Amino acid sequence: MRESREAIHIVGAGPAGLTAALTAVRAGRHAVVHEQRPDVGARFHGDLQGIENWTTQGDVLNELAFLGVDLAFAAHPCREGTFYDPEGREYTYRSPEPLFYLVRRGREPGTLDQQLKAQALSAGVEIRFRDPMTRLPEGGIVAGGPRGPDAIAVGYVFHTERADGTFAVLSDRLAPKGYAYLLVSRGRGTVAVCLFDDFHREREYLDRTIAFFQAKAGLRMSNPVRFGGTGNVLYPSTARHGALLFAGEAAGFQDALWGFGMRLAMLSGHLAARVLIAGHPREYDRLWRRRFGAQLRVSIVNRYAFSKMADRGYVRLMRSIAKSADARQWLRHHYASSLCKRLVFPLARRQTRSRRDPPGCALSGCDCTWCRAHPLSRQEPLQSGSVASGS
Ligand SMILES: Cc1cc2nc3c(=O)[nH]c(=O)nc-3n(C[C@H](O)[C@H](O)[C@H](O)COP(=O)(O)OP(=O)(O)OC[C@H]3O[C@@H](n4cnc5c(N)ncnc54)[C@H](O)[C@@H]3O)c2cc1C
Repeated sequence: MRESREAIHIVGAGPAGLTAALTAVRAGRHAVVHEQRPDVGARFHGDLQGIENWTTQGDVLNELAFLGVDLAFAAHPCREGTFYDPEGREYTYRSPEPLFYLVRRGREPGTLDQQLKAQALSAGVEIRFRDPMTRLPEGGIVAGGPRGPDAIAVGYVFHTERADGTFAVLSDRLAPKGYAYLLVSRGRGTVAVCLFDDFHREREYLDRTIAFFQAKAGLRMSNPVRFGGTGNVLYPSTARHGALLFAGEAAGFQDALWGFGMRLAMLSGHLAARVLIAGHPREYDRLWRRRFGAQLRVSIVNRYAFSKMADRGYVRLMRSIAKSADARQWLRHHYASSLCKRLVFPLARRQTRSRRDPPGCALSGCDCTWCRAHPLSRQEPLQSGSVASGS
């Protein structure tokens, strides 16, 4: 096996870790990705997820191409969606440019994970599967994904003959403080609830969601397989601990309002690799804050405001988006920083405090209490943040 003193070591072959590795090898460095599971995408089950395309004027696929990630074949653009309010009233949102791109996640061919793996391998990245890392004392990039549940998503993936479409509903009866969604693309479907509260009653909310979409959107499932997963949201005061740089959800980088994490994972992986290549790890915090710090802070304020809403607030929100001629522009405005949002941020951050600690010294070989409690420091393969099929 090729090893080099110049190798950059990366924990986790998710979007953050593989993008970091691609950045490193394209800059002439050797990148070693340590993945605890037997393949990429193994924490997902073929579920459809959306890469958001509203936080910048430019298109996300162009931005990713600029970082060296080509997702053109895996991503399906969505310019229109149907949304329902708690009373079941229907609203259609449209945008001339894609609002988001649907991708499948998992081990199967055609998923975002397999596409990233193929690009990484052909660029010369070394991926070591079944290699759970418990120590990285010389430093590197920690991209091991979520480590605790700030939000959960549970649902079914299935086959369908239904036409493609994207549907979502805001209702505390179906998904308290979150949302429920149905996505169909090219014969594959995903129906799920994304909960930010009352996690223990997930089955009840999922059953109601399925009944709702059966009645409203003609949901019919063939070969349904149940899935579930967790997400972390955090605005870290730093995403660096000594020579360790945290990227993606391992750092807490995820849209706090709706749980969009893939774009931030790839962006932060790229930035982490760039500063390591340049030999300036201390620059990492400055770079990620400049690129998406404001967006992350606004998403925390938006989550806080959303958590104070009830069904009537959801109706007002949906009407406001529906009135706009371009839903993408509306969303971009909603995610833009303002004086008011900056003033509310400290309160929102306190109130939406993550259920896990900020990035610490895990993997650095440190023996402090936080590190000993941290899953990445344990000898056995990580289980937290995993997806349990059929559970
Ligand atoms: C059900 C569900 C639906 C979602 N929907 C969306 C969506 O629609 N849009 C969106 O943008 N985001 C969505 N997300 C969030 C998105 O999937 C994540 O934010 C994104 O995958 C994070 O990428 P990552 O590289 O940081 O971590 P991950 O994708 O979790 O990858 C981390 C990798 O590290 C490995 N690993 C962990 N610990 C170790 C260790 N100690 N040693 C070696 N390997 C290790 C894991 O096995 C895993 O392969 C969803 C998440 C879930 C659970």
